[in-house]
Amino acid sequence: MSAHEPLIEVSHLTHVYHPGTPHEVRALHGVCLTVHRAEFLALVGGNGSGKSTLAKHLNALLLPTEGRVVVDGLDTRDPQALWEIRRRVGMVFQNPDNQIVATVVEEDVAFGPENVGLPPEEIARRVEEALQAVGMLDYRRREPHLLSGGQKQRVAIAGVLAMRPQCIVLDEATTMLDPEGRQEVLETAHRLREREGIAVVHITHNMEEAAQADRVVVLHEGRVALEGTPQEVFRDVRRLRSLRLDLPEVAELSACLRRRGVRLEGQPVAVEDLVAQLLRQSGVVV
Ligand code: ADP
Ligand code: MG
Repeated sequence: MSAHEPLIEVSHLTHVYHPGTPHEVRALHGVCLTVHRAEFLALVGGNGSGKSTLAKHLNALLLPTEGRVVVDGLDTRDPQALWEIRRRVGMVFQNPDNQIVATVVEEDVAFGPENVGLPPEEIARRVEEALQAVGMLDYRRREPHLLSGGQKQRVAIAGVLAMRPQCIVLDEATTMLDPEGRQEVLETAHRLREREGIAVVHITHNMEEAAQADRVVVLHEGRVALEGTPQEVFRDVRRLRSLRLDLPEVAELSACLRRRGVRLEGQPVAVEDLVAQLLRQSGVVV
């Protein structure tokens, strides 16, 4: 499985809510985007820029008004492919409390596999593997409502994993969490990408999180405004500000140093990289 092979292809996608009514909203305008296998893609943009609308097209929760979305060769418009697409692309949403359906952790994770009628031994195996993969196996018999936000989101991710997906979409799944919970969920997502080759589409307002992705796509008013590696995207400080987006701290610092005449190679995306460059320049051996 090559990391550069396309998994999801979104072409010229336009989405209109309530078309032809006085409540018509054009949420996406001709969006083109490829999600590659096993990549970690961050999707950022202001409120109302169309991130959730785009996310819902990735597993056929919404269908195109115009354009096409193809998931692993399956067109989301094909009604016969619907369940196969939903199995391949799993979604985790913002509010951990709205996603848990059962009163015991392992039953919650079993919900998807039970729904598609897998045999009990297979369900048990998948539930165990999925809980293991998110580091929640010890909590299998707990009541979900007693868990922390980060743990609940990891259980939600396990529920998706039990369906053996090729892509997980986290729609602001870290937004409501405390820093520890965010870290747990992010580390889990990165690990799944590395160990299982699962593509992750991480929708976030947190630019530090976006800076850890392989690629960043910025949506603005329903269009792709910027796209590239974090190094490329976070170098364009003026453009990001004009899109009313925050910058990662390291990008702010780099921009400030550049204004003062310090030359930097490329755009450091981690504080450690910036510090290492500055130390090298000043001849400090570390
Ligand atoms: P984001 O996730 O980036 O905040 P959304 O995709 O939720 O953006 O929304 C994009 C636009 O579509 C916004 O103008 C929003 O008000 C509108 N919108 C979202 N969902 C609906 C809906 N169910 N009905 C009508 N308009 C909607
Ligand atoms: Mg949203």
